[in-house]
Amino acid sequence: MKKFYVETLGCKVNQYESDGIASCLEAKGLIREQKNLPVDLCIINTCAVTSKAGMQSRQAIRKIIRKNPEAKIIVTGCHAQTDLDLIKKIEKVDHIVCHKEKTQIADQITALMNSQTTDQSPFVFQQPDHSKNNLFLSFDKPVKGNMTRAYLKIQDGCNSFCTYCIVPYARGSSVSMPEQEVFKHLDGLAQSGFREVILTGIHTGMYGLDLNPGTSLVNLVERMDRLKSVDRIRISSIEPTEISDGLIDLAGDGHILCDHFHIPLQSGDDDILKKMKRPYSSSFFEETVLRIHEKLPFAGIGVDTIIGFPSETEAQFENTFRLIKKLPISYLHVFPFSARKGTPAYHFQDKVASEVIKERCARMRKLDREKRSAFILANRGRRLQSLVQNTEDRQSGFLKTITSNYLTVMLKKNDSLKGKLVDLLYEQCDSDMNLIGKQT
Ligand code: SF4
Repeated sequence: MKKFYVETLGCKVNQYESDGIASCLEAKGLIREQKNLPVDLCIINTCAVTSKAGMQSRQAIRKIIRKNPEAKIIVTGCHAQTDLDLIKKIEKVDHIVCHKEKTQIADQITALMNSQTTDQSPFVFQQPDHSKNNLFLSFDKPVKGNMTRAYLKIQDGCNSFCTYCIVPYARGSSVSMPEQEVFKHLDGLAQSGFREVILTGIHTGMYGLDLNPGTSLVNLVERMDRLKSVDRIRISSIEPTEISDGLIDLAGDGHILCDHFHIPLQSGDDDILKKMKRPYSSSFFEETVLRIHEKLPFAGIGVDTIIGFPSETEAQFENTFRLIKKLPISYLHVFPFSARKGTPAYHFQDKVASEVIKERCARMRKLDREKRSAFILANRGRRLQSLVQNTEDRQSGFLKTITSNYLTVMLKKNDSLKGKLVDLLYEQCDSDMNLIGKQT
């Protein structure tokens, strides 16, 4: 029996696609190794979101080749899409597979593994032509992955072309999984026992706009709310302009949507937002967060920030800092600006010095810790419904649970609770902000 290993870099969409490829290979009788051990076939699913991610992708390929000199090496993902020439230069890469071919990768790989080709140059499967009609390509079966909560990719690509972002060049324009198919996959996941499904995509809020007849993310979630085939739906990330009152209402009591919104802000300065080509102002963002907070006072609100965008002055950074500080935000993801070749921002003048970016990021990460601890405190004494994860923390032996508003609470090990929703209170919070809870 042939064995394979998949290494994934980057976002949840990549993780979903790696799991999809792995399930297809398993269905063909191959065995998945969870560690980088010598195997017959290695797939590296790369990331291009920052130049560091691209470099780490190439390092991962080289490391895997060293460990697996005899294996077939297949490279796919965004970095393979945007920097094909860099990947081609790596010796011993057998095949490079573009995004569009990912769902058929298992068929192609098994055919190639059975052929005795002696050609040493990497074979590149078809590259996509983004100017042509883009189609949403899904795996035949629901992708289960090996976590307690399942991801469901309902959308791919993006039409926004924010000036710093390489993703639209890698993944093409926005395409949505047809509704019928979404529900087929959702049912499959529900029947396999998943209680929570995370809707994911590159620009998830654009869901349905390309379909005929057109629909929307709110319509989709409303229908899921009526059917209630799973207990919880979570949206992995949503743009501020796409958070309607209808969507917020669907996260209220008795509804299926988690009261957790992960929103890319990027900058709290209006001039920088314009230079980024982000379609909102800082006051619009503020009003959106307050609208969520008013209806759902305990909602988890996570925010992405990009620090040190070209020409960002100290005062402009302060605008971002102050905006976040005053709003009821529960956690931050802090990204130092990374100039991506092929994007407009790569050519922008007045790059911010790396020491300045580092110092601003450190201040922002300190603010993140303050925000997290304030949110934890706000939830003290509240009864929280939490989903118990299947894996346990090796050191403590505790089980990890995730609340609807995205707190992680550890619970004393009890195997019968794995995969179940439980009501709990958190009792302790240690200096690393680990929460320990008990069932109520
Ligand atoms: S909305 Fe902007 S940042 Fe997000 S994927 Fe599209 S172009 Fe990139």
